[in-house]
Amino acid sequence: MQMFTRRTLMIGTAAVGAYASFRSPYVFAQTGAGPFKLDPLPYAADKNEPHIDKTTMEIHHGRHHATYVNNLNTAAKDNAILGEKPLHELLASLNSVPDSIRTAVRNNGGGHANHTMFWQIMGGSGGEPSGAVATAIKESFGDYAKLQEQFNAAGGRVFGSGWVFVTVDKGGKLVLVPKPNQDSPIMDGQMVLLGNDVWEHAYYLKYQNRRPDYLKAWWNVVNWDAVNKRFTAAKVGKLAI
Ligand code: MN
Repeated sequence: MQMFTRRTLMIGTAAVGAYASFRSPYVFAQTGAGPFKLDPLPYAADKNEPHIDKTTMEIHHGRHHATYVNNLNTAAKDNAILGEKPLHELLASLNSVPDSIRTAVRNNGGGHANHTMFWQIMGGSGGEPSGAVATAIKESFGDYAKLQEQFNAAGGRVFGSGWVFVTVDKGGKLVLVPKPNQDSPIMDGQMVLLGNDVWEHAYYLKYQNRRPDYLKAWWNVVNWDAVNKRFTAAKVGKLAI
């Protein structure tokens, strides 16, 4: 039923998409044409101040993330197959995507998934991790300070653009996973608990070349309640994006 609805939506919006393609990509993304959509930020753009400034949040979400969604919808226009399964399943089966659009789906689908997760786990007030995640961090890394140390070091080592993730393996253990570009551990069949974006667009306005300062400050906006919800879902294999 869901598949039928998505197909219908795509056919129904084809005319809108054709019209919108004459406009800017940003406008196209905002029309909602295509199977993928940009959700609003789950909090005000200044919520992560002073660690992540409001302008960076607005540009990062409203332009960078919007562009990934837009590009993914463009790829879907002639390849309805893209809208036929949830994004995480699409990313976990990139080999089944036609050659001509595989790189576009990898980059823009990865970008869509990564940023969707990213907004969700920020907007908090940092501090010590809570709940089951606190215990899992102790078991997997020794303590929270060691996780931060290893995570920030991995983020500093990403050459160019990429991400640092913490994934949840099948036994509930947490694993540090750096990735280049917009790649996601979801592409390797793994579940992402949290991650930080180390593309320059994520921090350059405030931190310029000081990526280590950004990495350190970022922990102050992590929403541990949101991370705990993700962990609960991951432990029963239900964490999608
Ligand atoms: Mn980004």
